[in-house]
Amino acid sequence: MQKFLFPMKYLRVTQGENDSYSHKGSLAMDFGGKDQGSDKLYSPCDMIVKRCRQKANGEMYLESTEKVEFADGTIDYAHLLCLHDSVFNYREGQVIKQGEHFYDEGGMGNNKPNRFGTHVHIEAGKGKWQNTRQFANKYNVYISENQNHLYDLFWLDSDVTVLDGKGYNWKRVVENVVESKLSKEPSRLKIGFASEGDIKIISNELESLGIVTNTVADGYIITSSWVSYGDKLAVEHKCKELGIEIADYIEPVQSSVDNETVELKEKISVLEEENADLKADLREKQQQIDVVEEKNGVLTDKINKIKQIIE
Ligand SMILES: [Zn+2]
Repeated sequence: MQKFLFPMKYLRVTQGENDSYSHKGSLAMDFGGKDQGSDKLYSPCDMIVKRCRQKANGEMYLESTEKVEFADGTIDYAHLLCLHDSVFNYREGQVIKQGEHFYDEGGMGNNKPNRFGTHVHIEAGKGKWQNTRQFANKYNVYISENQNHLYDLFWLDSDVTVLDGKGYNWKRVVENVVESKLSKEPSRLKIGFASEGDIKIISNELESLGIVTNTVADGYIITSSWVSYGDKLAVEHKCKELGIEIADYIEPVQSSVDNETVELKEKISVLEEENADLKADLREKQQQIDVVEEKNGVLTDKINKIKQIIE
């Protein structure tokens, strides 16, 4: 069975759910991708295109062809709505394979391709579509039916870089597999110097994630329950908001039989670091190429001008 995967390589939430800007009463989120440019979206699973509105807000309604596994562990059909792409490469009735490029960030709104800054607005939920349209809610915000929290639906595959998860409890495919094998001993979070008030705010944040905490004076927050990788992200986000040094995540005590899993986990983090380094290298090389290409262009212009003079 396919896992329902987050459709972008960079996760950067630019507007969260229920945000008063344009998501009041909606579980929609806006994603900005890597930067201001237009990132590609890859199909979360095998999906069929149910409805396209090329004008308006560039809406594409899709539905999984089979039942899928969501990030919260439930299994059902999935429905998905994306907004703001201005160029459509698929038509209603077409089937898109998992991982296939099917959509792009865009600025389509009110029939204008540059109505908004480049992003994608996503709504999704469990089950098939009953109505492929949006309804005005009581705040007069247009929303689709049967929405679920996107972080309960989308798994983050191992190659997804989280730039800004907005503190939501996103779940990783790889980490989930590994972590589930570790014993559920309490984990510890260490934060930088924090006032009593700040510690209270962070404890409340943890509580809202279902984690019971006991604070200790030396800057440690000891949790008396399991802190997942996603929970850790949420706390990091809160710390950043409060201007506190990022939380240090202390692995839960593992039982002796899990040494192999711990080794695997270490290997994964080493590989992830190497991957990040390689990506940084690649960016640097690309910048160098850009400079050389520009120089090359200037030289070519000069050569052409000289040729014209000679002729
Ligand atoms: Zn939106």
